[in-house]
Amino acid sequence: MTQWWQASDSDLLHALGAAQTRLNAAYVEMLALVREVDSRGLAGKHGFVTGIELLRCTQNITKADARRRLDAASDVLPGRTVSGQEIPARLPATARAVAEHAISAEHVVVIAGMLASLPPHLDRHRPALEADLARHARKLDPAALRKVGKRAIEMLDPDGPKPRDADPSRTRLSLCEQGTGYAISGWLDREATAILRTALSPLAAPVPAEDGAPDPRSIAERQGDALVQLARRMLDTSTLPSEAGHRPHVTVTVPLTVLENRLGMGLLGFADGTLAGTIAAEDARRLACDAHVACVVIGGRGELLDIGRNSRVVPRGLRRALAQRDGGCAFPGCECPPQWTDAHHVVHWADGGVTALHNLVLLCPRHHTTLHSSEWEVTITDGFPLFHPPPWVSGGPRRNPLHRADLFGRTPT
Ligand SMILES: [Zn+2]
Ligand SMILES: [Zn+2]
Repeated sequence: MTQWWQASDSDLLHALGAAQTRLNAAYVEMLALVREVDSRGLAGKHGFVTGIELLRCTQNITKADARRRLDAASDVLPGRTVSGQEIPARLPATARAVAEHAISAEHVVVIAGMLASLPPHLDRHRPALEADLARHARKLDPAALRKVGKRAIEMLDPDGPKPRDADPSRTRLSLCEQGTGYAISGWLDREATAILRTALSPLAAPVPAEDGAPDPRSIAERQGDALVQLARRMLDTSTLPSEAGHRPHVTVTVPLTVLENRLGMGLLGFADGTLAGTIAAEDARRLACDAHVACVVIGGRGELLDIGRNSRVVPRGLRRALAQRDGGCAFPGCECPPQWTDAHHVVHWADGGVTALHNLVLLCPRHHTTLHSSEWEVTITDGFPLFHPPPWVSGGPRRNPLHRADLFGRTPT
């Protein structure tokens, strides 16, 4: 054994290179033996199920290593058919580099892997790519070779893999901007449809008006409302997985002047921060009314205002008191339970309204919209919400006796 500690640096480095070449040579010899064992079909003859099993058991190597050696042997060495006919090596340029002991086992694995990943439509480039990779392998380590190979394939195929044709039997849903909103399209299999319809059904039921007039919404409109309500309930009950540590939330950004003057636009954002589009001032006021959306109020110079944060958010105790008092949506004739309601500010916090029992009413999303966008008005009279209809509705002010029988027949003073 050479006393390496006595050798000069340059001798040591030369010896290092020579040892790698011998290792490469030993590798070729190993592959040649593997190839011959394989060509003779020795596995079957000696009771091994496969050539891999033979190598694993006789060489004490892993199955993966055995497979790599067998694959590499047929990649870089010519073989024979049973009748003695020669089969050329699958990778001729790589075979030459291996025969010259110029590249290692790992290089062969990288080259074979890169060529196997070549998309079928680039097949005509295979010989040139193999020659290129074999040439680079003589100078680059396997990891660098992999990078160069990847880049070469990207150059051949700048568009990347062709998009898969949409599988007509896969569940899918897409939202596409259309007009002032988004169009929904997609496909659900029967099972998915059953799940969705079952969830939508109770939310899509027709809601007759207080005077018994039938729900004017079409089935499609009711189902649309129900889908949105379903999603809202999920957001409100926070059973959804969080995204980047945040509870998913819709965001509305609105200038204070828009909230105050009811003119202009607010901006609605998706949870990921992308913009959904503009919304009318009155919708912004309604969204900002309760805390189920995150509301960002900006001042005249675009600065963030802290206004409303404290008055907007309804503390848990106050919320319980509201549920106790109203029992659910307080709008006359509505049966919506308290957990699905917003706390509507009778006097909007943007107009100086406080977050207190005497300024809050529980309303379901539908009736919250009614209050914000029609002539219906609400007051807290005698400690309970009293709804004042527009002049064209006869009967005068009224309460909702459905959650609280004790309010039934109570006439406003
Ligand atoms: Zn409101
Ligand atoms: Zn309601």
